[in-house]
Parts: sequence; C-alpha cells; structure tokens
Amino acid sequence: MPWYRQLHWQIVIGLILGLIYGVLAAVWGWSGFTGRWITPFGTIFINLLKLIAVPLILVSLITGIASLSDLRKLSRIGGKTISLYLATTTIAIALGLIIVNVTRPGDRIPSDMRDQLQATYQQDAAARTEAAQETRQRTVLQPLVDMVPENFFQAASLNRNMLQVVFLALLFGIGLIQIPTEKARPILSLFESLNLVVIRLVDLIMLMAPIGVFALIAGTITSIAQDDLGQVLELLGALGFYCLAVIAGLILHIFVTYTLLLKTLTPMSIRTFFAGIGPAQLVAFSTSSSAATLPVTMERCEEKLGVSEEVSSFVLPLGATINMDGTALYQSVAAVFIAQSLGMELDLTAQLTIVLTALLASIGSAGVPGAGIIMLVIILEAVGVPSASIALILGVDRILDMVRTATNITGDAAVAIVVATSENQLGTANLSETSDRIRISSV
Ligand code: ASP
Repeated sequence: MPWYRQLHWQIVIGLILGLIYGVLAAVWGWSGFTGRWITPFGTIFINLLKLIAVPLILVSLITGIASLSDLRKLSRIGGKTISLYLATTTIAIALGLIIVNVTRPGDRIPSDMRDQLQATYQQDAAARTEAAQETRQRTVLQPLVDMVPENFFQAASLNRNMLQVVFLALLFGIGLIQIPTEKARPILSLFESLNLVVIRLVDLIMLMAPIGVFALIAGTITSIAQDDLGQVLELLGALGFYCLAVIAGLILHIFVTYTLLLKTLTPMSIRTFFAGIGPAQLVAFSTSSSAATLPVTMERCEEKLGVSEEVSSFVLPLGATINMDGTALYQSVAAVFIAQSLGMELDLTAQLTIVLTALLASIGSAGVPGAGIIMLVIILEAVGVPSASIALILGVDRILDMVRTATNITGDAAVAIVVATSENQLGTANLSETSDRIRISSV
C-alpha cells in the first residue's frame, strides 16, 4: 500500500494541513468561518471517541476479567501497574525540576511583560483557582469514595468518571467468574460479541481521524490566535524559554525514560513501539484529552503492539485517569518557573514538596483539556506561591497541553507493554494497516 494511504500518515497530513490552515486563518481573519464550518468536524470526531470510550472499557474489561483463571493474577497486575505508574511519574517530575532549575526560564521574563500577562489573564486565573478550591476541600479518602458509583447509569453516563466505570466492570467481571460456567456462558458470549463490535467501531471511527485531527488543530489555532497571530507570537516570544523547557522535558521523558523502560524490560523494539503508538499520540496531541484518546490507545496497544486484552483493558483505562507523566512534568516546571519569575527562590524542602504534590496533583488531574493547570494551583499554594500567578502561563497552556497529553498516553502504553511482558501476555506486534482496511471494507 502506498505510504499516503496508511492511516498514520494520513493523520500526520491532516495535522500539518490543520496547522497551515490555522495559521492562514489567523492571518486572514477567518475565525468566524472556521468556527462555523471546520470546528464542528473536530467536535464530531471527539464526540465519537468519547461515545465509544465507556462501552469499550465496560465490555473489554468484563471479558478480560472473565477470562482470568484466578483473582490473584488481577491483584498482581494491579500492583505492578500502580508501582510502574508511580515510578515513571516521579522520574518525570525529577526531570522537570532538573531542567527548570538548570535553565531558569523564569529569570528571562521581563518584569513589564510579567505584569502585562498577569493583568490580561487575571480573570481566567481566578476561575481556575476557584475550580481548584473545590478539590482542596475534599478529604483524603474522597478519591476512594468517588471511585464507587451509587448508580450504574450515572457512572456510565459521565466520561469524567472513568474510574467508576473501571470499578463497575471489575465488580461485574468478578461476579461473572464466581458463578457456574454454564450459567455465565450466555452473558460472556454476549460481551465477547459486544467487544468485537466495539473494537470494530473504533476502527471505523479512526477512518475519520485525518479529518478530525485537521479540524481540531485548525480550530485550536484559530481560537488561540483569534484573528491576531501577532499576539500569539508575542506571547510565545515572552514565554518561549518556558515552553521550550516544558517541551524539552517531555521529549526527553518520552525518548529516554520510556525507551530505557522498554529496552530493559521488554523485547519490543523502540521503532515498533513508536510506529504502533504514533496515531494515538497524534490523536492525543490534537484532542488534548487522554480520556477521549483512550479508545485509540487501547486499539493500538492490542491490535498493533500485541498487548493482550486482559492487560490493556485494565492498565490503559487506569492510566488514562491516574497516570499523567506529562502533566506532572509540566506542573513541576510551571511551578518553579512562576516562582522564578516572581523572584522567589524555592529551597530544597519546597522542591521536595513539589515532587510530592505534583505526584498527587497529576493523579488527581482528569484526562481532559486544561485539567493540569487547575491542579497546578494546589502545588503553588503548597509551596507558598500566589496561585493567581497562573495568569502568567495561561496564554500558552493549550499548546503545552497538547504535548503533555501525547506524553501521558505514551506512558500508559509503555507501562501496558512492560506489564504484558512480565505476565507473558505480549504477542507479536503487527503494524500492517492492510488487515484493518480489508476487514473494514467487508463490514
Ligand atoms: N489534558 C491532559 C490529559 O488529558 C491533562 C492535563 O491538562 O494535563 O491528559
């Protein structure tokens, strides 16, 4: 098949065209047209992904659990997954802190620019601080309570409650293996069929990805630039070093931490990994939401990288909700950057506080656009930096959100492969797109 007919290249082309269109639209003042005629296709694409996310977790996790021979395996997989998630996130934070302390981007921002940014984004910052307030009033055990839904339909109707759906599916799956096999058979067969249907639907939705990604990127650029590209360039000029520090950290984390992890603990080649996960990274980049990207991450890990369904259906939904390496790295850089630009020095205790709070804040951040900056407020307050100063970095947050979301899902996939390897559940990778297309065209 020629390269331009392969899905991942089509998504790349969609992304590049979206970028070009977005810039031209900003220069020529087409934001109205874009909002009316282009953005809706991006919304449709995201909606389709979100639509399929809850059914996908439910059915694949239930069939995954039901195929387990004993429940001890589940707790073993759970233990490994959570330890790896915590370890990689801590490394990400450490990396972020090293970069921001060595490069000191906060020292490079002129004080008049700082005051101007603070004034411009004051209102937006106040809204984020208020949102963080709600989180802060919660008790320590609240996240545990939040995981247990009181109503099935409510849990299944809110994409933000992904952990509730995971919990529900686990409970149902456990119940299913505890009843006699012949009684469980009909339900199991039903879920197995549903599972196949849902997976096929993800393939179909992905056919729209090139257009969806084009529309999302075009829409994002025009909404940031608002017909005034000069303003964005000015913002990037002022916050350029900060953005570079975050992006360099994220790239290093992807290419060093995950590469080392895969090289030492799995038989998978790095090329295969990136070729397999690439489309999911592109979707994450353009949607800025690891929750919306979840169906794609799962599909790529299972169908292309050979992770068993049992592992992927447990590790990936959990990762999309609690494992946010990119967010944690960004939060640590942002916290220190803000302190630096306000002329505050953070001592070792403060930096260690950042490690701990960023770990918790990234776990608490939902996999939706802009969640990371809300939780940043909590980190800032923990180290005594005024939280309203997130106004400084709000203007470029969407751009960084795209890169950190792509990092977040890459981390989930890397851990899924490590866990699958350790459980002897990593099949052979199959990166050919042909099989999908043939099956799709015969639907
Ligand atoms: N948008 C990110 C995600 O969905 C979370 C964040 O804001 O950092 O993974």
